Amino acid sequence: MQSNHQKETYQAPNAGSKIIIVGGGCFGLSTAYSLALNKEKNYKVWVYDREQIPVRDAASNDISKVVRMDYGDERLCMELAIDSIEIWNQWNQERHEQRLPPVYHNTGMLVFSGEGELCENEKHSLRHIRAAGHDDWIEELNAEEIVSRYPYFETAVKNGISCAYYNKIGGWCNSAEAIKHIYNKCKDAGVQFVLGDEGCFTGLEIDKNNIRSVIGIRTKTGNTHLADRVVMCTGSWTSSVVNMHKQVIATGQVVIHFKPSEEIKQILNNLPVWFGDFSRAGFYGFPDNGDGIFKIAKHSTGYLNPRRGDNVSVPRTQSTNEGDTIPVQAVRDFREYLRKFLPLTDDLDITYSRVCWYSDSIDGQFIIGAHPDYDNLIVAAGDSGHAMKFLPMMGTRITEVIENKDTEYTRAWAWRKVVPRHGFYDRPILVDDNHTVRMVTSAELRSSKI
Ligand SMILES: Cc1cc2nc3c(=O)[nH]c(=O)nc-3n(C[C@H](O)[C@H](O)[C@H](O)COP(=O)(O)OP(=O)(O)OC[C@H]3O[C@@H](n4cnc5c(N)ncnc54)[C@H](O)[C@@H]3O)c2cc1C
Repeated sequence: MQSNHQKETYQAPNAGSKIIIVGGGCFGLSTAYSLALNKEKNYKVWVYDREQIPVRDAASNDISKVVRMDYGDERLCMELAIDSIEIWNQWNQERHEQRLPPVYHNTGMLVFSGEGELCENEKHSLRHIRAAGHDDWIEELNAEEIVSRYPYFETAVKNGISCAYYNKIGGWCNSAEAIKHIYNKCKDAGVQFVLGDEGCFTGLEIDKNNIRSVIGIRTKTGNTHLADRVVMCTGSWTSSVVNMHKQVIATGQVVIHFKPSEEIKQILNNLPVWFGDFSRAGFYGFPDNGDGIFKIAKHSTGYLNPRRGDNVSVPRTQSTNEGDTIPVQAVRDFREYLRKFLPLTDDLDITYSRVCWYSDSIDGQFIIGAHPDYDNLIVAAGDSGHAMKFLPMMGTRITEVIENKDTEYTRAWAWRKVVPRHGFYDRPILVDDNHTVRMVTSAELRSSKI
């Protein structure tokens, strides 16, 4: 809940205000676009990023991300996903008119869930989807129906992953293309960009007479850039550049790609986006991305990369550490799970692997609100690995926060002090000094190894 203190001190910006957004990823660009569309307010919107957009190691820069409304008991996220899908479809239409390929692929979502009966989380998803009037989107599937429709999941069913439902609305987005799409929209709408070292945030510029008052940002070149409001959209880097009071931490999550033969691609030709008993195992995957790549990922507690001095976890990416792959144990986990879920991947080499970084919040909800230490600073963080699907709508919701509106979303996401569950900050350290977690070699990504 938003504290009274915040409500008293944070003020919506006046018309004509200059608003600096730090971070040109999913949150930053979506917000910039939404602010720039408000002609009545005529904000001057500036986006700063440390690199050219799409940024090589941003979480939003990827071949694919899941677009789903299946959100367990989180009704607000379900509603936001449904609204977002409507705009994903509009963007596809726009792109069709521009002779560009679609950014959203409605393959449907195949959600597996344990043995015989759906898990609680999946039951909640269905209850909310049906309550919203969309029963006709859902088909519940028993073991026989799964195998008859998707014969390559016969082993999964035999191994007890034998209950599922199919939601015909949902699928995946080409996230790198989607970022380019909204970046172009921002430029057309008059957003200004400062990219590279001049755009690389190094600190807040504070009013000398009032330590609570943020008056701009400083960047790597040593320059100061003044603004009426600053909005931090720095993704998994946020906790390393602003004091987030330990409410978010950067966690590394593992992604792999396969590039199967034509024969296997044919076998998998009706594969939708799938969640393999996600609530318990965390694995999920995608159909062919159009270039013959099948991506599989695991949503988990992930890894930390503590910075020397203060132990704050900072993203360690293939931009900062060229040649990085994924930890040995992660490869073992993928291989072991896939052996019982989709064994036709057994003989496939992993053609690419990556550790991608979440800004993980304690309760998995976004943290989008006024920062309690300052008057003119909004943080939009804590994406917790699930915000990309909201790209078309996120900025509208973040603008409500910037404009100090009271909505279900601004209340749910406001700065809060959540007590972490036991062990929240204890996760394996990526490439630790004792080498207990080390990255696999490219040879170890081959099917015959590990
Ligand atoms: C493995 C993985 C799988 C995911 N799968 C899904 C999925 O299937 N579906 C889904 O909806 N979501 C998914 N997500 C989550 C989604 O990618 C994120 O929620 C989303 O990208 C968050 O957007 P963001 O703008 O906060 O961060 P980002 O997209 O990472 O953007 C942050 C930006 O801040 C910039 N920045 C950082 N520091 C500075 C600085 N000092 N100065 C200037 N700029 C800076 C960066 O360069 C970057 O451009 C996944 C994430 C990961 C890691």
